[in-house]
Amino acid sequence: MFTKILVAYDGSDHARNALTTACKLAKLCNAELHLSHVPQVDTPTVFIGAYADAMPIMPSDEEIDEAGEKIIAQSTKEADAVGCKITQHHVGRSVPAAFTLEVADNIDADLIVMGRRGLGMLGALALGSVSQSITHGAKCACMTVI
Ligand code: ATP
Ligand code: MG
Repeated sequence: MFTKILVAYDGSDHARNALTTACKLAKLCNAELHLSHVPQVDTPTVFIGAYADAMPIMPSDEEIDEAGEKIIAQSTKEADAVGCKITQHHVGRSVPAAFTLEVADNIDADLIVMGRRGLGMLGALALGSVSQSITHGAKCACMTVI
């Protein structure tokens, strides 16, 4: 039914559930399984001067690469645990939803699987901003996993 499944993965529990579901579907359909990830590194803020002007410290390229590698290793391990191989990891440096949609277009995905929520703190909302944007912009079927 599906031939190319793309899972958007941020390392959260929701994304793990999405990956497990995507793995099961990929096995059932004998489909390729692709994964998109945009590393997110916390930016601590320093306060400068008597009036405490806040200035975020931008993460270095190395820190971003390192964060991405950790998440990719985690996803490989999780896929292995359910007997599934990820065909290709796509790691980007742009806006997560835009990057995922770009990858979906490039590989001609016929399904995008993602978590309903992610690493964000606003758990009360139904959908996170990334899953909302992907669902809104996708040209293929989308599945959000709890
Ligand atoms: P918000 O980020 O709006 O505060 P949230 O973190 O709870 O809310 P989303 O970020 O929308 O929710 O996450 C929902 C799903 O989107 C995740 O489970 C994951 O599938 C995907 N996603 C989120 N961030 C990324 C990312 N950086 N790279 C790849 N996929 C992502
Ligand atoms: Mg998020």
